[in-house]
Amino acid sequence: MTDLLLPEDLKPADGRFGCGPSKVRPEAVARLAEVADELLGTSHRQPRVKDQVRRLQEGIGGLFGLPDGYEVLCTVGGSTAFWDALTVAFIEQRSRHYVFGEFSGKFATATAAAPWLQAPDIVDAPVGTRPVTGPAIGCDVQAFTHNETSTGVMQVPVRHDDALVLVDATSGAGGLPVDLTEVDVYYFSLQKGFASDGGLTLAICSPAAVERIERIAASDRHIPAFFDLATVVDNSRKHQTYNTPAVATVFLAAEQVDWMRDTFGTLDDVVAVQRAKADHLYGWAEASPVATPFVADPEARSLVVGTIDLDDAISADEVNAVLRANGVLDTDAYRKLGRNQLRLGMFPAVDAADLEAYTACVDWIIERL
Ligand SMILES: *Cc1c(COP(=O)(O)O)cnc(C)c1O
Repeated sequence: MTDLLLPEDLKPADGRFGCGPSKVRPEAVARLAEVADELLGTSHRQPRVKDQVRRLQEGIGGLFGLPDGYEVLCTVGGSTAFWDALTVAFIEQRSRHYVFGEFSGKFATATAAAPWLQAPDIVDAPVGTRPVTGPAIGCDVQAFTHNETSTGVMQVPVRHDDALVLVDATSGAGGLPVDLTEVDVYYFSLQKGFASDGGLTLAICSPAAVERIERIAASDRHIPAFFDLATVVDNSRKHQTYNTPAVATVFLAAEQVDWMRDTFGTLDDVVAVQRAKADHLYGWAEASPVATPFVADPEARSLVVGTIDLDDAISADEVNAVLRANGVLDTDAYRKLGRNQLRLGMFPAVDAADLEAYTACVDWIIERL
């Protein structure tokens, strides 16, 4: 069955549709190769590397249009490490979590295990939907997930009360709209919307967030050095990280941010393109006799991660096996969701034409299975 050969003229030019790690643009890799001799393997305390960290911070600031006083932090460790940093160095007593899939659940699990915190206040919703958000009495943090990567559901972060608003934007950042005045910490690693590699986190922080970080650091709570967010603030202001960063990751992300700004413009312009791609994908599924968008509410359907259920008569595993054998990669359902589903990343680096080619390839395969 995997012998099926997709016609060359049907195939996407780039077959990477993973939800993270996701497509890294070949042009950015070529740029890295050009500068590698002067950059890789050089000190991260010297201007060459610090200039790239600064370039990334300033690029992100420009793309998002930072409100007054907001700053861009950079730290080693992906979003999973950052959950631990928030648990130990940010949450005072109790956090509210909106749980609607694997990733939103993991942060709640981290705070639930911390003996210095009260049990988290969890509002959950069945997979494929999003929880209703609202005030959380007794909580000093509200934890949102901009895009639940395991299900393809997006959520709108809003300020409901005095709690500081934390947003896991690991897959949503750069592809979904956001009003940063509603947010205190908007954090993400770089292997999804920013088409780079894993292992680093950027966090856009409000002045209130920085004040909270400094207050917890000054308290008598023990904070392991790696998770000390006050150290992250200090180092980020100097365009450094506490321990050695992945310099190639910084460079590739900076290339991607510059490319997004040069190609599309502002974040709103990027979002408009994302909307058009998402309309294509969900429109295709709605029109198909054998495919259906998994997320029933059109408003909740992600603009960056699409989840499409297939009719029981068609095995998504078989469709994915044929795609993979033909170089079209990583559109399997999230493993723990266990659905007969295609799940694909359509981050800004993924061309609209390639997304259209993807759906045409799936149609072609379905006709022949
Ligand atoms: C991928 C992902 C994570 C985990 O990111 P790492 O960099 O691997 O730690 C967390 N949250 C969301 C929403 C994700 O998509």
